[in-house]
Amino acid sequence: ESVETLVNRLSETVRDYPQPGVVFRDLTPVFADGEALHAVVHALIDPFQGQFDAVAGVEARGFLLSAAAAYASGTGVVTVRKKGKLPRKTISEDYTLEYGTATLEIHADDLLPGSRVLILDDVLATGGTLGAACRLFERAGVQVAGFGVVLELSALRGRSALAGHRIRSLVRE
Ligand code: IMP
Repeated sequence: ESVETLVNRLSETVRDYPQPGVVFRDLTPVFADGEALHAVVHALIDPFQGQFDAVAGVEARGFLLSAAAAYASGTGVVTVRKKGKLPRKTISEDYTLEYGTATLEIHADDLLPGSRVLILDDVLATGGTLGAACRLFERAGVQVAGFGVVLELSALRGRSALAGHRIRSLVRE
C-alpha cells in the first residue's frame, strides 16, 4: 500500500470544525497507526537525505512528525512555537490567519547560522504558517532545506506563499 493510499484511508474529514463552514482534515488516525507513521516519516525525509542538519516542527501536530523524523535521521529537533511559550531570547514572526493574526517563535540560538533545517507540519493550507516559520529561521541565519507536509490543500495556494523552496507533500487535494 502506498503512503498516499494509507493517508487517504486513515485520515478523517470533519465538517463545521473548528467553526461552521470549515471542512477540517484530521490526520490523528494516521499518526496513531504504526505502519502509517513509519511510512509518512520516511516519505517526508527521504527526498531531503543529506540536505539538512536538523528538523523543525510547527506547534503542535508538527512536533509529532519532526521528533520522529529527527530521530529517524539522527539529527536534532527544534520547536516552532506559538507566542510566549519559549523561556529565553526569541525571534518572532507574525502571520495572517483567516480571521486575525498569530505569532510564531523560535529561540534565537536554536540552530547555528549556516546550518540547514527541514521544516515539517501536518497540513499546508494558505502557507501562512510555514511562511512565518521559514522567515524565523532565515532571520537566524539558518538555511531552509525544504518543507514537508502530509496533506496539501492545493486550492489554498500555499505553494505560492513558499516560492523558491522545495516542498514535499504526500497527498494533494
Ligand atoms: P496555513 O497557515 O493556512 O497554511 O494553515 C496551516 C496550519 O493550520 C497548520 O499548522 C495546520 O496544522 C493547520 N491546519 C489548517 N487546515 C487544517 C486542516 O484541515 N486540518 C488540520 N490542520 C489544519
